[in-house]
Amino acid sequence: MSDSRALAIEYLKQQRLLGGDSVILTVGRPDGRTAEPPPEPPQPTESPTIESAVGPSGRPTVPSGLSFDPPSADLFATDPIQQTHSLQDVATLIAACRKCKLCEARTNTVPGEGPATARLVVIGEGPGRTEDETGRPFVGRAGELLTKILEAIKLPRDQVFICNVVKCRPPENRLPQYDEIAACLPFLYRQIELIKPKVILAMGGTAAQSLLNTKQSLGGLRNQVHRFRGIPVVVTYHPAALLRNPNWKRPTWDDVRIAARLLDN
Ligand code: URA
Repeated sequence: MSDSRALAIEYLKQQRLLGGDSVILTVGRPDGRTAEPPPEPPQPTESPTIESAVGPSGRPTVPSGLSFDPPSADLFATDPIQQTHSLQDVATLIAACRKCKLCEARTNTVPGEGPATARLVVIGEGPGRTEDETGRPFVGRAGELLTKILEAIKLPRDQVFICNVVKCRPPENRLPQYDEIAACLPFLYRQIELIKPKVILAMGGTAAQSLLNTKQSLGGLRNQVHRFRGIPVVVTYHPAALLRNPNWKRPTWDDVRIAARLLDN
């Protein structure tokens, strides 16, 4: 079989794994939530593959991006979040949190779920309706797609810590506002601090911009390895955006393979 035929077959298999059942491409919004972007140009053939994401030395060959290193708690910190010693302690504080207006309409808080030993932390934007009803992250349609994406890199969902930037549902699934993100970020920071994952996958603009403390667009942040307190951060599209725009599945697959390769090294 020719190389190009084998590649095409591999690509179609990946699309299947990512839930693709169509090769018709449509155009939508960058993470499905902000302004209409121009259509993403076709991916160049040199877009990162699993081989090119990390070189033979194990070092990523995709460019290094931003590095954000917010101070962590010192030994004498009195902030209750900093005094937590387990993910369950953090979840207990989240359940009682009334630091922003999102607490008013919530049914449940959605702290995140997964093992404290997870090597990968996946961060989304905020709970939707099903997540608010169940208290669990990514359990709606976007969650099903996320589960498939993780399976595609041979990571069972229950081995990954999955959470969001904000832990309460924004009304009508609107974008979380700046003050809501600012109130909630210390929980996310502490979760990451406790888990110490090998890699973080930020899905969608809100997750990427909040974690890296930047206003750069999702398109500008993809295809690089950023760092949060030294931990590699890969940025990609939000699964909800992929449901609306299958055109982004290919670049998402490229990003996810960068994360997979970083995990394997
Ligand atoms: N979208 C998110 O960003 N998070 C969820 O938990 C569900 C949908």
